[in-house]
Amino acid sequence: MTEAAAVGHGPGTAARLDVVVVGSGPNGLAAALVLAGAGLAVEVYEAADTIGGGTRTEELTLPGYRHDVCSAVHPMALASPFFRAFDLARHGVEMLQPEIPYAHPLNGGRVGLAWRDLDRTVEELGVDGPAWRSLLGPLVDRWQPLVADIMSDFRSVPSRPATALRLAIRMLEQGSPLWSARFRGQVAPALITGVAAHAIAPPRALVPAGAGLLLAALGHAVGWPIPRGGSAAISRAMADELVRRGGRIVTGRRIESLAELPAARAVLLDVAPAGLLRIAGDTLPAGYARQLRSFRYGGAACKVDFALSGPVPWTARGCDRAGTLHLVGSRQESLAAERAVAAGRHASRPYVLASQPGVVDDTRAPAGRQVLWTYAHVPNGSPRDVSDQVIAQVERFAPGFRDLILARRVVTAAEAQTYNPNYVGGDISAGAASPWQMVMRPVPRWDPYRTPLPGVYLCSSSTPPGQAVHGMAGVHAAGRVLRQRFGVYADPLRFVGNGSRRVHDAVATDR
Ligand SMILES: Cc1cc2nc3c(=O)[nH]c(=O)nc-3n(C[C@H](O)[C@H](O)[C@H](O)COP(=O)(O)OP(=O)(O)OC[C@H]3O[C@@H](n4cnc5c(N)ncnc54)[C@H](O)[C@@H]3O)c2cc1C
Repeated sequence: MTEAAAVGHGPGTAARLDVVVVGSGPNGLAAALVLAGAGLAVEVYEAADTIGGGTRTEELTLPGYRHDVCSAVHPMALASPFFRAFDLARHGVEMLQPEIPYAHPLNGGRVGLAWRDLDRTVEELGVDGPAWRSLLGPLVDRWQPLVADIMSDFRSVPSRPATALRLAIRMLEQGSPLWSARFRGQVAPALITGVAAHAIAPPRALVPAGAGLLLAALGHAVGWPIPRGGSAAISRAMADELVRRGGRIVTGRRIESLAELPAARAVLLDVAPAGLLRIAGDTLPAGYARQLRSFRYGGAACKVDFALSGPVPWTARGCDRAGTLHLVGSRQESLAAERAVAAGRHASRPYVLASQPGVVDDTRAPAGRQVLWTYAHVPNGSPRDVSDQVIAQVERFAPGFRDLILARRVVTAAEAQTYNPNYVGGDISAGAASPWQMVMRPVPRWDPYRTPLPGVYLCSSSTPPGQAVHGMAGVHAAGRVLRQRFGVYADPLRFVGNGSRRVHDAVATDR
């Protein structure tokens, strides 16, 4: 094991500290778990009073109604290499599977239903069933290598070029004016567009198309699960395991400057580029600071949570069994709504993403009652409360919804940044969804995690592979730290799961 000079200028802790992590989002905790699994002494500092970043669950409206504050639905927490190694089930987290991962209602009572079962989905899509199968079937069959490549640091050759090519061809099709060529009806195109629009960008473009294809394929391959009790179950399991490995977590401690940190051989920052500029201040070289300042943040979300006196009265069949709903209407309506947001305008009928955990989880609300989690896409920095537009979009497909509302709670895009500084202007992806920024985030460097400051690394979703609860930005950053600061060249995923104990001992004796 090689020695590296200490970073952090503040007072040392009583015990020797190897690594400090700032931020306890899924990426910060994943990095901390890997490094603690390798036998290193790790301390995590979190600004908020609770851990978890984008994986928190709280009573936001009324007592007894538990809402996911940010993330709610977790295909990546089943599929990502980090979580497959970590194994949430082994840590007591129950991932509940709606039999319909997502539904997309349209005018006139029509609906697209994505069942877990690809065959049933194809059958019910009728005229466009074969098109759905040919679009997604090959990706569903090869979801593991597909996820491995998409969850990479984007600095290596795809592990399965043939699978990568299959995805690339479909991205080029769904991201171009040819996107409707394979479809004959309106339901299937609306269904896939509703998923692509998760990127909060006009869906007829490469990055949204890629995100949509991946998430849609995972709907059939692993499902879109909802954790029993809420997303906080995920961060709680990670934090418990970190503590079991000797790590320490300090909450309610917002780091304003690197100088506040105790001495350690590496510092990992689960923060956006704007956060790094704040924390590192003038110590960053001018060129790198300029690159960080030119990082672009993307479209934003206005979050609206509801406490309801009963289930949402959807008109279309199947919507009452779907975990997630895309509420915007036709493919053209999705495109128009996202184009408005990208142009800095509020859509009159915005894209609304909704999750109804009550279809699988009876712990979120008192008996007979429900919670509904929603957000609408809005321009970055928007201070506007769009809850009336959200209600109108739900009401459009579920007349009578309004009468069930017991309470609502709104967080505008502008306010999201106060809650979590990583969501700059309410951009929940911590970076715009352009092809350049997906690969070259946060700055165009061969090593996107290492900063020019010795021993200081970024590990948030502003680094590859980007948004969602997958932990892989943390894993990639931790891999760099192990190699560059501690001379440990093993695959960082080896330190995540069962095998970590043996390697842990090996590294510990190395010291
Ligand atoms: C409304 C919303 C809905 C979402 N829905 C989903 C979903 O359904 N499924 C999904 O997979 N993803 C979803 N996401 C995205 C997902 O939550 C994020 O991509 C993910 O949480 C990013 O993880 P992270 O560790 O990079 O950062 P975060 O989870 O944002 O965590 C960063 C942490 O660092 C802390 N921090 C920042 N600066 C400092 C500082 N200076 N000092 C100390 N602490 C600091 C913050 O308080 C925060 O706790 C959603 C996000 C939002 C906001």
